[in-house]
Order: sequence, then structure tokens, then C-alpha cells
Amino acid sequence: MDNCIFCKIIAGEIPSKKLYEDEEVLAFWDIAPQSPVHFLVIPKKHIARPADVTEADDALIGKLIRIGSQLAKEHNTDDGFRIIFNNGAKAGQEVFHIHLHIIGGRDKPWAL
Ligand code: AMP
Repeated sequence: MDNCIFCKIIAGEIPSKKLYEDEEVLAFWDIAPQSPVHFLVIPKKHIARPADVTEADDALIGKLIRIGSQLAKEHNTDDGFRIIFNNGAKAGQEVFHIHLHIIGGRDKPWAL
């Protein structure tokens, strides 16, 4: 997708600090962390928003949650982390390529 910053990260055109990658999913550290552990899990398929997910994407979206949770465990934050999907500018979505935030590493990591 042209002009999508996360598609450019997937393509290697913009650098990122990767935690995980396979043929469908990429996880990387957030550039402006809100908590000691804050990373993003994205599908390589360009889907703009959660509201654009179709039934065909059900397994892929479940995989984002599974991979994100496994990575949280590897970073010793599986006793308490927050999963956030923002949908739309009103909700604070800035990058229109669907992404799951994993936020942890401190008590009550509410703020984003
Ligand atoms: P959202 O507000 O839900 O769209 O979140 C977008 C997130 O992407 C923010 O937390 C940003 O800090 C993060 N972000 C934007 N550009 C980059 C980048 N080049 N590398 C890593 N994270 C980024």
C-alpha cells in the first residue's frame, strides 16, 4: 500500500526494531513507548482499521493476539499487560494499518 508507514516497515524501507517475523505477521518495538514494554503486532496484509476486518481475517487477527501474548511472556510481562486496537482518528488511531499494541512492564499500564 503506497504511503503506509507500516507497509514500508514490512518492506524494509523504513527501519524497525523487530521482535518477531513470519510470513503473515511482524512485531516491532513502538518508537514512542508509553510503558517499559510497548510493542506493536501487525499483519503483513494491509488492513486499515479493525472496522475493516472481514471474516476471512478471523484467524489472522487471532494470531496477532497469540503472538503478542507470547512475546509479552518472553518479556516477563505476562502477569499484566494491556492489548489495544485503536480504530479511527477519533479514537487516536494515527497509523492506518491495523496494529495491536502490547503495553506492559509496569502496574496498570492504562495510559496511551
Ligand atoms: P495508533 O495511535 O494506535 O495509530 O498507534 C500508532 C503507533 O505507532 C504509535 O504508538 C507510534 O508511536 C507508533 N509508530 C509510528 N511510527 C513508528 C515507527 N516508524 N516505528 C515504530 N513505531 C511507530
